[in-house]
Amino acid sequence: MLFKSETFKIVKKEKQTEDDCLFRLEPVGKKKIKLSYEPGQFFQVSAPGIGEAPFSVCSYDKEFIEFNIRGLGDVTNHLLKLEPSDKICLRGPYGTSYPMEQLKGNSLVIIGGGTGVAPLRGVLKYLEKHRADYDRVHLFFGFRDPNEILFKKDMEQWNRIFDLNLTVDKAPDSYTGKVGLVTKIVEESGLNNKKKAVMICGPPIMIKFTILTLEKLGFHHDQIFVSFERRMKCGVGMCGHCMISGLYVCKDGPVFRYDKVKGLHE
Ligand SMILES: Cc1cc2nc3c(=O)[nH]c(=O)nc-3n(C[C@H](O)[C@H](O)[C@H](O)COP(=O)(O)OP(=O)(O)OC[C@H]3O[C@@H](n4cnc5c(N)ncnc54)[C@H](O)[C@@H]3O)c2cc1C
Repeated sequence: MLFKSETFKIVKKEKQTEDDCLFRLEPVGKKKIKLSYEPGQFFQVSAPGIGEAPFSVCSYDKEFIEFNIRGLGDVTNHLLKLEPSDKICLRGPYGTSYPMEQLKGNSLVIIGGGTGVAPLRGVLKYLEKHRADYDRVHLFFGFRDPNEILFKKDMEQWNRIFDLNLTVDKAPDSYTGKVGLVTKIVEESGLNNKKKAVMICGPPIMIKFTILTLEKLGFHHDQIFVSFERRMKCGVGMCGHCMISGLYVCKDGPVFRYDKVKGLHE
C-alpha cells in the first residue's frame, strides 16, 4: 500500500563497510500504518532541510523496512549520522518489483555487484520465507575487495540454504575466498538456461558483461530481470529526471525484464 510521507524510527543500525550501514526502521505514531512492499521496490527517504533520495528495500517483513545506505553526498552522509531512536520520514513504496509469484517453481540465478546486492537482499529475505516455492537458488555476488563485502552475517545463512558463490576482484594473499570478477564465476558455473530466471543488480558495466556471459551460456533476454539505480528526483513519474528513451525508471522500473529495455540509450 502506497503511503505519503510517514515518520519512522530507526530501531537498528549495523555497520557493513567503511561507507555503508544497514538501517532497520519501524513506523511510529498512534495510527500505525500497515507495511507492505515487494522485493525490488524503493522508498524516498528524506533528510530534513537537505533533500531526499531513493533507496531500495533490502528486507521483506510486515513490521519493519531495512535499507543499506552508502555515503556518497549530502543526503546519504546525513542519514549515516543518524542513530537508533532517531526519526526519519519516508514515502513509498514505488516502482516495479521482481515477479516472485510468476517465477514460482523455477530455479533462480541471482547476480549482484557491490551495492547492487542490497536490493537483491530483499529478494533473498522473501525467498527465506518462501523457500519451498522455488527450485535451486544460485547466488553470484562480487565485491571489490574483502572489506567491501556486504551482509556478512546473512552470507553464512545463504550459504546453508542457497548455492552461494562469493568473489572479490582483489584480495591480500592471506584471503582464502574466491578472487576474480563475478562474470568469471558465472561463466565457470556452466549453468544452463532450463527453467531458470535471472535477476541482476549492480553497476552498468557489470550488468553489461554479465548479460554477455549469460548469452554465451544460452540464456534468453526474456529470462533476465535487471534493476537500474538511475538518478531520480520525484519518484512518481512526474519530473522526467530518470527518463531513458521514454521510460521512467521510477515508475516503469526500477526492475525491468531485459528484453524490454535492451538497446535503450541514456
Ligand atoms: C531506485 C534506486 C534505488 C537505490 N537504492 C539505493 C540503496 O539501496 N542504497 C544506497 O546507498 N543507494 C541507493 N541508491 C542511490 C542513492 O539514491 C544515491 O546514492 C543518493 O541519491 C545520493 O544522494 P546524496 O545527496 O547523498 O549524493 P549526491 O550529492 O546526489 O551525489 C553524490 C555523488 O554520487 C553520485 N550518485 C548519486 N546518485 C547516484 C546513483 N543513483 N548512481 C550512481 N551515482 C550516483 C553523484 O553523481 C555524485 O557523484 C538508489 C538509487 C535509485 C535510483
